[in-house]
Amino acid sequence: MMHKLFTGLFVHMYQELAFSLRRIYHYDESAQTKFQKEKPWTNDPHYFKRVKISALALLKMVVHARSGGNIEIMGLMQGKTDGEAIIVMDAFALPVEGTETRVNAQVDAYEYMVDYSQTNKQAGRLENVVGWYHSHLGYGCWLSGIDVSTQMLNQQFQEPFLAVVIDPTRTVSVGKVEIGAFRTYPEGYKPPNEPRFEYYRLFL
Ligand SMILES: [Zn+2]
Repeated sequence: MMHKLFTGLFVHMYQELAFSLRRIYHYDESAQTKFQKEKPWTNDPHYFKRVKISALALLKMVVHARSGGNIEIMGLMQGKTDGEAIIVMDAFALPVEGTETRVNAQVDAYEYMVDYSQTNKQAGRLENVVGWYHSHLGYGCWLSGIDVSTQMLNQQFQEPFLAVVIDPTRTVSVGKVEIGAFRTYPEGYKPPNEPRFEYYRLFL
């Protein structure tokens, strides 16, 4: 089943690469800067509704999550925004393990994330960090209490920022990628339809 999955991904990857290259050539930095200045997401906690993940980024995240074996892994995603959509173009592993279970792992992870995205900005790279990903081993894709705290912190300092969860165990068992993309609401905000929820799922 993994073989089938990867074959499909590789075929799709070439199409995506061509697509990404075209997008990079047409990357409008001034539009992104304007968007960053206007911050439309601050007026609407549900502003970002969709996520588009390139096959390259998806493949990297799935391989990374699988390579962790029975250890949960974490990484960063690079990309950009397109109106209400967050576009993930690439992904990078971070040397942080056991994200959910190890004490201070989230603190380490957060420091790595901040360092990485600042270094990246100093290096003048075109594509910025737009989120983090981590794996859940067999218990599905959602945000735990710790994940919610980390994501809330990220959204205060790194906006626009996305949280992606991958479950490689379930990915193998159902033959497709088990993945979820999430954003948290600002602290104290009660969404009109689901007042109990601290976060929402974006369309993939
Ligand atoms: Zn988690």
